[in-house]
Amino acid sequence: MPALQTDVRYIKGIGEARAKALNKLGIFTLRDLISYFPRTYEDRTLTRPIRELMLGEHACVRAMIAAEPTAHRIRGGKMLVKVRAVDDSGSMDVVFFNQEYRKSSLHAGQTYIFYGKVEGDLIRRQMVNPILEPEGRQMLTGRIMPVYPLTAGVSQLILSKTVRQGLDACRELMSDVLPDDVRRAHRLCYANYAYENIHFPTAPEALEAARRRLSFEELFLLTCGLSMLRRRRRDAAGPACHAVDLSVFCQALPFPLTGAQKRAIDDAVADMIGGKPMNRLCQGDVGSGKTMVAAACVWFAAQNGWQSALMAPTEILARQHYENLAPLFERFHIRCALLTGSVRASARREILSALRSGEIDLCIGTHALLTDDVAYCRLGLVITDEQHRFGVNQRALLSQKAENPHMLVLSATPIPRTLALVIYGDLDVSVINELPPGRQKVDTFSVGEDYRSRINAFIRKQVSQGHQVFIVCPLVGDDDTVPDERKAVTAYAGKLQEETFPDLRVSVLHGKMKAKEKESVMAAFAAGESDILVSTTVIEVGVDVPNANTMVVENADRFGLSQLHQLRGRVGRGSAKSYCILLSDTQNEETRRRLKVMTQTNDGFKISEEDLRLRGPGDFFGARQHGLPALKIADLSCDMRLLDEAQQAARELMSVDPELSLPEHRALRERIEELFALHADSLN
Ligand code: ADP
Ligand code: MG
Repeated sequence: MPALQTDVRYIKGIGEARAKALNKLGIFTLRDLISYFPRTYEDRTLTRPIRELMLGEHACVRAMIAAEPTAHRIRGGKMLVKVRAVDDSGSMDVVFFNQEYRKSSLHAGQTYIFYGKVEGDLIRRQMVNPILEPEGRQMLTGRIMPVYPLTAGVSQLILSKTVRQGLDACRELMSDVLPDDVRRAHRLCYANYAYENIHFPTAPEALEAARRRLSFEELFLLTCGLSMLRRRRRDAAGPACHAVDLSVFCQALPFPLTGAQKRAIDDAVADMIGGKPMNRLCQGDVGSGKTMVAAACVWFAAQNGWQSALMAPTEILARQHYENLAPLFERFHIRCALLTGSVRASARREILSALRSGEIDLCIGTHALLTDDVAYCRLGLVITDEQHRFGVNQRALLSQKAENPHMLVLSATPIPRTLALVIYGDLDVSVINELPPGRQKVDTFSVGEDYRSRINAFIRKQVSQGHQVFIVCPLVGDDDTVPDERKAVTAYAGKLQEETFPDLRVSVLHGKMKAKEKESVMAAFAAGESDILVSTTVIEVGVDVPNANTMVVENADRFGLSQLHQLRGRVGRGSAKSYCILLSDTQNEETRRRLKVMTQTNDGFKISEEDLRLRGPGDFFGARQHGLPALKIADLSCDMRLLDEAQQAARELMSVDPELSLPEHRALRERIEELFALHADSLN
């Protein structure tokens, strides 16, 4: 008796080699198999009169073989079998290449259903190597057929047959995870029906019902899971804070805060004096000034006697925060420390002991903040910057360093509301929708390789006017082999230095460098000691070099729009007019359109919405990275109403049975635990 976790090799006809190919598609178990949803469908339900067939379309025809087939050998030794098929409306030629057996298996007077592409001309239509099945014994015609994404070694036919067997094997195994009342209240079909019809729909309506049910289930499970992940925080009391006059802090700043910054700070302060732990996301475009919002919160927490931790995704960024904030806080006698992987053992010991004794009020760092031996005396506020780079689990780890600290999450990827709802569920959101005054738009161009010499001349011109230039290269390699980042970028920079810009100063930055090296390269560039910085995406986050006014992105089609937007945020930080040049030779229409979006708007929210529409949410949050299950079927760019419904249903259910401990919710709970791979410790 199989189970949903049974290996796909259980299926007849799936041996070692095929199993390997299926694994490449993410199919390991029977559950994976039946959850491998079609990319699209081909409607082969209706047969059409031959006479009405249009050239180039795929169609089903019911026709009779008119005469015995003929066969002859053509160039290259291939065998060609040809036969004429007729229906009431007309006739067509049917041609088979390399299917010699057709000569003896097809006979005049037999009727078949043919499915294939219509070729030839309107006087003499033709199908080449069509699918043909005798009427009444149809497997591949007479129905809506699934079309799956494929890989080498697995054809549509094999896949659909394997899925068919998988569905048959699983029919008895699937317990419906949706509680029956939820299913009925939202007019959703049964799981068995849904899985059957998502693969082999009996009618378009059945397909729609299946899709709706499975999308709902997915969003429902995600919402319930997130709610369980966070529930325990909400019941608790947060670090106690009383109101403090913030104007003291604001007056110490070199600039007045923008209205949006003030609102975000007010939101956060209201949370912190509210008794419960703050759980707030502060979203704002690159350069909108989120650091000051964080700083105000740190200052406020410190006035209340609490320590803060600020976690950044890269060492460069952590250091930059430290260099900005330490002098600002010094005048308030708020002591800061920087804790990263490259801090020496002795210095590290000192910092750790000062954190434990409470001498340090703000600890800024990278993942190094998460290590076991980092302990705080009175940690009250945890801030994660550029949150989308951290997983749910990492955030949870940091917050475990205290009882129930206030949490502030800074996100520079403006996330469309649809997605924020899924990812953050019950997080409160402040949006900084206003840039500090004096910011200018970065002029953006999307061009092909034929512009190369003009671009080089442009770079030269900018440098001669005293500006600096970023050249960003993605890692380009085929799917299986990750190219050597260090080698690729270093070689490219070397070539630029020697051949293209021998008279300019070219420097290199890549992710494989030691933190110290990276810093010194960045510092030298910031100090104007090099003209062109060639780098991988390590510069994506945070780095501030106001004198750099031009960015060239090589193979720009390799990046997501949101990532390009982040990259572009590195220029346009000074007073000079700034430029971003996206280089790509792609002929792909879709990609060209994507890049064009960048030239039309500087608004991060618009860009990420477009990104979501064009590429789906996977690019925002890799499932592995974030510990959240991937969405396989729900499409957030159009299933907004369904998302509302699913979230509503999940909220209702969780309010009745927050731990899903009732017996009728057992299947649901087990499925969620499986999906989230929930570990007891990440729940806290
Ligand atoms: P991000 O939201 O991308 O983290 P930062 O906090 O790094 O943005 O701010 C970008 C730049 O804008 C910094 O140099 C910062 O000093 C400056 N800045 C922040 N707030 C203001 C403001 N209200 N007025 C003028 N400049 C500001
Ligand atoms: Mg920032």
